[in-house]
Amino acid sequence: MDAHDRRKDRGTEALTCPDCRLELQDYLDGTLEKKRSLAVFLHLRDCEICHREQEALSRVFASLDALPAREAPAGFDAVVLAAVPFAAYRAMEPLRRARVPVYLERSFLPGWLRARVTRVSGTVVAVGAVGAWLAGFGPPWLPGVAAAGAVPELLVRLQGLGRRLVGAQKVGV
Ligand SMILES: [Zn+2]
Repeated sequence: MDAHDRRKDRGTEALTCPDCRLELQDYLDGTLEKKRSLAVFLHLRDCEICHREQEALSRVFASLDALPAREAPAGFDAVVLAAVPFAAYRAMEPLRRARVPVYLERSFLPGWLRARVTRVSGTVVAVGAVGAWLAGFGPPWLPGVAAAGAVPELLVRLQGLGRRLVGAQKVGV
């Protein structure tokens, strides 16, 4: 990197050579924002190496533009899609899921707790207890009943949330 790469030029942030190369295609397409385009222009004016790069790229673009337009052959999409190994991808689904921590596996919670009937009736009990408690009815242990009733649904949902978070992390890696 030359010294001139780091200087300021007419108030425009001077580009480094790698930055200039990254912007070259957009610069030639004319899609760069004005200030950025000026920065590339100034860099190209002063940097012999990037200037040569620009000329080479311009030649490539020109020869690409000169190519005759061609239609994709009939059935092109179908051929491409047929080449994608969807079946193999689906077959590996258990392997991908196996990387979730054990406590986030559905089977980590007992079946009776995961059962729809347990979760629904637990939630009904919890909502009823909270409602009665808010209305001023019932004994002082009612909030305890509400909490206990909410546990199955809460655990299942927390587990689901955990799985989604782990999944999101994997996608992000
Ligand atoms: Zn340069």
